[in-house]
This record gives sequence, structure tokens and C-alpha cells, in this order.
Amino acid sequence: MSSDNSIRMTTQRAAILTEVQEADKHLTAGELFERVRRKYPTIAYGTVYRTLHLLAEHGIIQEFPFGDQASRFDKRTDRHDHVHCLICGELTDVDVPIAILARQVAADQTGYDIHEHQTVFSGICPKCQQMN
Ligand SMILES: [Zn+2]
Ligand SMILES: [Zn+2]
Repeated sequence: MSSDNSIRMTTQRAAILTEVQEADKHLTAGELFERVRRKYPTIAYGTVYRTLHLLAEHGIIQEFPFGDQASRFDKRTDRHDHVHCLICGELTDVDVPIAILARQVAADQTGYDIHEHQTVFSGICPKCQQMN
């Protein structure tokens, strides 16, 4: 990653980054705020929100905006694919071996020099399926 990681790592910023890195799925700013607040009860939502965007801008984490749903933050910055629940908004990593082939097919069909691609599979997560 060539992005400059030169943001000043304050204790609060480090704590916010740690919550992103320790989460088992991709959380929203609101969910991360709730977790950070357990250790830093006085932290403001705005601080968490701005820090997450700052970390994403510097390529330290990845941000996924979802239309009218809240953005989710991902500790992984490498290329990978996701499943996304249309009901609760959960976003989780998925390993799709065919993804690299898909990139080749796209390049072959269009002549594009493909720089990046990712696949998001939308559907209903197991938890939401059980609530029906
Ligand atoms: Zn769900
Ligand atoms: Zn991910």
C-alpha cells in the first residue's frame, strides 16, 4: 500500500482502529462508537465518525458506503468479496475463488485495463431468515 500512513495516532484513534480490527464483521460508525464508548465513556460520536473516515482516506481501513444504509468499515484493505444482508445490513467477507477469473473475463470482453473489482452478493443472512 503506497498511501501515506502519516496520520497522528492519538490514544483515541488507536482505540477506534483496534475496534475495527477486532470486529469479526464490518461494523457501522454507530456500532463502533458503542464499542469504543465502553472503554472511553466520554468520547463523542463525531470523533469516532471523523476518525473512521480519516483512517479510510489513508488506506488504513476500508469504507463501504451502501446507498441509504450506513457505511461499514473493514479492517482488510486487500481485494476481497462480500455478502450483504438486505434486511439487517450485515456485511461479511466471503472467499470466491472464481473472482480472479471474473476479472479476466471482464478485461477480455471490454479491452479494459481493470484496476480493481469486487463482488457484493446481496441477500438475506441466516439470522434474518430465522425471523420469518
Ligand atoms: Zn440480516
Ligand atoms: Zn471485508
